[in-house]
Amino acid sequence: MKYYVLFGPPGAGKGTHAGALAQKYNLKHLSTGELLRAEIAAGSPLGIQARDLIAAGNLVPDEVVEGMIEAAFDSIKDVDGFLLDGFPRTLPQAEALDRITAARNSEVTGVISIMIPDEEVFRRIARRAEIEGRADDASQATIAHRIETYHAQTEPLIEYYRNAGKYHEVNGYPGTIEEVRERVLTMVESI
Ligand code: AMP
Repeated sequence: MKYYVLFGPPGAGKGTHAGALAQKYNLKHLSTGELLRAEIAAGSPLGIQARDLIAAGNLVPDEVVEGMIEAAFDSIKDVDGFLLDGFPRTLPQAEALDRITAARNSEVTGVISIMIPDEEVFRRIARRAEIEGRADDASQATIAHRIETYHAQTEPLIEYYRNAGKYHEVNGYPGTIEEVRERVLTMVESI
């Protein structure tokens, strides 16, 4: 099994480019944000626990997302691997992912990072807010807080995966969606 991680700040285009990658390599796309939004929509206990944290632009507890990822690895069989989008987001999550993949006699195959500057994060999320109506896209303050959270808690993973020789970065800006998709596909081809 392959275990790819799509990495980058909010709004970088992880979800946008996941589809093409998943299709090309027969991977299951797992977005922890989407899984959490489904729990919220279903009104499950997990969704109720996560709702206010997400709306405020905070991360949900590591154990919650780790459990969701492990459950997905256990239950999904008919694929050649997984494409993780939005996970891991903290060092403990990255360490948990190493343990979870090791327990499956495997490891993270590669991390594909899509980088865009903070100003572009604001522009894109403001645009997405009009289309998708996500609660955590709605206010400038929440977007700013998610960017802060990204820098404080998620960015250290760059060093973690660089040290492991697994970090591969493409520019998500400037460029059209098609251009960035081509960069991402070319990068994965080289891994
Ligand atoms: P996303 O759709 O990836 O932007 O995720 C939306 C929100 O879900 C994030 O701002 C977090 O509140 C929460 N979330 C998604 N993935 C994680 C994760 N790996 N760890 C903690 N919180 C997460």
